[in-house]
Amino acid sequence: MAAGGGTAVAKVSSRGFFPRNGNAERIRGYEGKTLKKFIPIAILVIFVWAWPARAQGGIAVTRNVAQVDFPRSVTFQLELADASDVAEVNLVYEVDRSGCLTANTAVPVELNNTQAEWTWEMVRSGNPPPGATLRWAWQITDRQGNVTTTDEQSHTFVDDRFSWQTVSAPNIRLHWYEGDDVGPILLDAAVAGLDQLQNEMGITLDSEVQLFIYGESTDMRDAVLYIQEWAGGVAFSDYNIILIGVPPRIAESWGVPTVRHELAHLVIGQFGRSCVGGSRPTWLDEGLAVYAEGEPSESIQADLASAIENNSFEPVRSLNGAFSAHGTEAGIAYSQSYSVVKFLLETYGQAHMQELILTLAQGTGYDEALEAVYGFNVDGLEQAWRQSLDLPRREIPPTPTAVSAQSIPTIEPFGLPESVPTEPAAAATAAAMAAPPSTTDSGSGICNLTAFPLLLVGLGLVLRRRK
Ligand SMILES: [Zn+2]
Repeated sequence: MAAGGGTAVAKVSSRGFFPRNGNAERIRGYEGKTLKKFIPIAILVIFVWAWPARAQGGIAVTRNVAQVDFPRSVTFQLELADASDVAEVNLVYEVDRSGCLTANTAVPVELNNTQAEWTWEMVRSGNPPPGATLRWAWQITDRQGNVTTTDEQSHTFVDDRFSWQTVSAPNIRLHWYEGDDVGPILLDAAVAGLDQLQNEMGITLDSEVQLFIYGESTDMRDAVLYIQEWAGGVAFSDYNIILIGVPPRIAESWGVPTVRHELAHLVIGQFGRSCVGGSRPTWLDEGLAVYAEGEPSESIQADLASAIENNSFEPVRSLNGAFSAHGTEAGIAYSQSYSVVKFLLETYGQAHMQELILTLAQGTGYDEALEAVYGFNVDGLEQAWRQSLDLPRREIPPTPTAVSAQSIPTIEPFGLPESVPTEPAAAATAAAMAAPPSTTDSGSGICNLTAFPLLLVGLGLVLRRRK
């Protein structure tokens, strides 16, 4: 099924190629309060050059289009009025993201008479989410070595299977299509979540986030290649985009805490972004996200009461790594993480929490970062937290296996092969969350930290020109 449609964007930029301003690109076509005019078409063709254009290099371009078959492929096509003097053609493209790398992808494309065509197969690279903006330009080199660069063009990916409506608040735009109340309810949740992050953690969103609320998680999964079958949503932190499947009947019970939870991940991910391979322990990320949901749910309270009564908490150190995706164990890990983070925040305050996140972002190990900020390592934290709950000290082996940032796999965007990616991979640092429960009464939005392997798209993948 194809997407795109209705929102063809052709932006001509006179600035340098792919200027970065750090802000998310606005989606044309979503500007109104509501937008219900997507016309399903098989393939979107973005006509950029319908007339011959002559750039400074003197080479006339008669056609420069991108055919978008979202989420599967984008085919870029270039036609020149006269190619007799052309030595080399390169396509340069990237998708706007706020990650560490801004390198775009340059692909040498063979010229066939006056035409050049190249297809970005997202089926191989993974796709960016709806709402992400693609930018491209062609670099045409003549036999004298003069380079003509076409003006930068852009296209925002749209999932046009649905008639999206949009509501917005400062720094948030939320798109949905099912259930009249769903958008406003979840927007309120997002605003409340951001307020709480600001008021209680002192952490603010630095650029606009977009939420796409699908009516069912299956609809959402169809927009993302290589997403886990059980996923109910996915947070593309580098794109500032969150997709969640929220059936209207559980918008209040499951959608609200899940939006707050995922938004917290995104905001904290932005605040604590590390470009040097730093990471955060899972108990910290999940604890902060559950904290951001607001008042703890009954199931969290029950988990905590039971674990306190039975003295059955897990060692905090064991919560450094990924939690299991499903089941009671995972639920308890989230509840315990919430309790630990609540203790840190309420005992030592938000400035320390911020410092911890920023220290970890510098690549400091978990124990070292805690030591630097609070004066205890993970084990010391556990004892202090247990004491706050009136639990006895736990016997901790004197030489625990240190779990540091370095020993946890992190996403390392460098060192990718200098070729078009061929392995299935998602287009983002994307954390998937579990699908909503089938009943309305079970727990909150549990997200699983399984990160898709990062490869990607416009990311750090610079193909050298062939001589
Ligand atoms: Zn989570």
